[in-house]
Amino acid sequence: MTRTAEIDRYLHDLLAVGQFKDYGPNGLQVQGKAEVRRVIGGVTASLALIDAAIEARADAVLVHHGLFWRGQDGRLTGWLAERVKRLMAHDINLLAYHLPLDAHPVYGNNAALGARFGWQAHARFGEQELGFLADLPQAVALPELATQVREVLGRAVLSLPGDGRPVRRVAWCTGGAQSYFEAAIAAGADVFLTGEVSEPQMHLAAESGVAFVAAGHHATERDGVRALGAHLAQHFGLDFEFLDLSNPA
Ligand SMILES: [Zn+2]
Repeated sequence: MTRTAEIDRYLHDLLAVGQFKDYGPNGLQVQGKAEVRRVIGGVTASLALIDAAIEARADAVLVHHGLFWRGQDGRLTGWLAERVKRLMAHDINLLAYHLPLDAHPVYGNNAALGARFGWQAHARFGEQELGFLADLPQAVALPELATQVREVLGRAVLSLPGDGRPVRRVAWCTGGAQSYFEAAIAAGADVFLTGEVSEPQMHLAAESGVAFVAAGHHATERDGVRALGAHLAQHFGLDFEFLDLSNPA
């Protein structure tokens, strides 16, 4: 058993939480048992994940997307009430790490996703340096890279062609980071990979010559919680299990 407060403090320091300007609170969002043995990890603190954690007799849930975001009006009603109520009824702690988990150089979403493709970042770019940049040892064609991404992530990807140049410099930022595309172009990328795509990226790709690959918000953000949970398990001797609840978006 490890004290919840100790895990919270450890992750606060490890992920340098104080260094980020974020859209919601990072760390312990819902307080449960004072001691933790079993942790369930997932991308989002959805009702399905919370129910699975209850079923698994978890003492804590570790996620990338917590429950509280800027712009909410603060009322605990509807879907938010239901999620909080179930956590509290079962005395389960909710630990959530958003941008600090995207950014961490070892356990973060970007670092861990890059590792799955064999991309080792040599530089960072964009707001709060969340974007990662790597130069491939050998240039590849865009369709070849898109196939690799599809096979590794096990889902369809959408790729917007640039000017057909060989891909040597890869830029990526997990989740809903389509707004980082211009910063990736400025950083000299040949392709930018993120989770989501919006209408303007088609035109930016065509006009800048830099390709854009959207590989799913959920699919690109599974690896940070996985890596962080495995580290926590090892560091504190906890039980950790990551639940990949399917999400096509
Ligand atoms: Zn996200």
